[in-house]
Amino acid sequence: MLIDTHLHLDAPEFDADREAVIHAAQAIGVGRFVIPAVELANCATVEQLAARLPGSVCAFGIHPLYVARAREADLDALRAHLGRGAAAAVGEIGLDGYEPDADPARSEWFFAEQLKLARAFDLPVILHVRRAQDRVLKYLRRHPVRGGIAHAFNGSLQQAEAFIALGFRLGFGGAMTYSGSSRIRTLAATLPIESIVLETDAPDIPPAWLPGGRNTPDNLPRFAACLAELRATDAESIAAQTSRNACEALGLPAF
Ligand SMILES: [Zn+2]
Repeated sequence: MLIDTHLHLDAPEFDADREAVIHAAQAIGVGRFVIPAVELANCATVEQLAARLPGSVCAFGIHPLYVARAREADLDALRAHLGRGAAAAVGEIGLDGYEPDADPARSEWFFAEQLKLARAFDLPVILHVRRAQDRVLKYLRRHPVRGGIAHAFNGSLQQAEAFIALGFRLGFGGAMTYSGSSRIRTLAATLPIESIVLETDAPDIPPAWLPGGRNTPDNLPRFAACLAELRATDAESIAAQTSRNACEALGLPAF
């Protein structure tokens, strides 16, 4: 059974056919979903979605691209939400050096405050890291957490090893399916399998067979097959190991 470790199931892209999207994934072996919030406003929604999908969990956090419209008081509300014990992780949080950021210091402050919350509640963290690998690593060293998942990993080998040393698994998905993504494919092929988890990031990061389209969680078995091919092994062992990794990363019961 597979776990989609990063799925924005509450996204408006799924409003028309959310049930069908879930059933299509379940029908081909994607049994559990990790549904991260991106801001305070959608914490309740991701919690409700995860609650009615057996074995699935949500994460609460303020995504770096949503920090601009967040208020400092949101961190108090986030602390209260986390205190209810409904979330398996703090996320999706991190830093984004790709999108223009009017106030990088404020983004870093929100990130650091949320790392402190993860530590206070001893929760794993789901990280968004884009063109900010070393900055994120710097904050993780300053505010150590129990690990988690660096989602849609796209850094270097050295940065991958640094995240792994800090207790993180690395998420691989749609980007690995493109033959031109040579750095990501090399990492997927060569990193210790214990450090890898699978994700779709649906509706984002559509795979090579859906360029520009809507990504859906039923693509996950093909991602497992792609990873198996890159590592010259079979998809069943990839599915079993990556699911085990995901359970360990997020403190979920084993299958
Ligand atoms: Zn995401």
